[in-house]
Amino acid sequence: EAMYMECIFCKIISGSIPSYKVYEDELVFAFLDIYPCSEGHTVVLPKKHIERFTDLDVKDASDLFASVHKISKVVSKTFDLHGMNIGMNVGEVAGQSVPHVHVHIIPRKEGDNGGSMHSIVETNPDTGNLADLAKKVRESF
Ligand code: AMP
Ligand code: ZN
Repeated sequence: EAMYMECIFCKIISGSIPSYKVYEDELVFAFLDIYPCSEGHTVVLPKKHIERFTDLDVKDASDLFASVHKISKVVSKTFDLHGMNIGMNVGEVAGQSVPHVHVHIIPRKEGDNGGSMHSIVETNPDTGNLADLAKKVRESF
């Protein structure tokens, strides 16, 4: 759990692979994405090697999002952003290419021609059953 020798993000955290670091504390590490979607594209990760967001415990998830909150405000100010998309690809099917939990902070500006969360996937699911679906989820807690 602590560190995987084969994990590129663990190697970045340990310093054995260089990165454009923007923030580090005892729990998280953040660097500029080397294939940025927009200028200032930042990736925030817990130092603990865990593959999926859903495998984090509530404390680690909370700490991660507290850091994302802090770092996103600084990135926004630094690059004079008009907005951001903040999110993660969870699982290969969702586009996660590095199996170490990370959150993307993607800077947005007026006229950048980018999309929203709604541009990620569109399977045109049925909307007549939303009450049933909501109930199903409520009953799964
Ligand atoms: P994901 O596709 O959600 O797994 O995100 C992984 C991100 O890490 C991608 O946006 C990559 O461009 C980025 N990335 C991969 N290798 C490096 C690296 N060595 N330094 C910085 N960013 C990287
Ligand atoms: Zn790792």
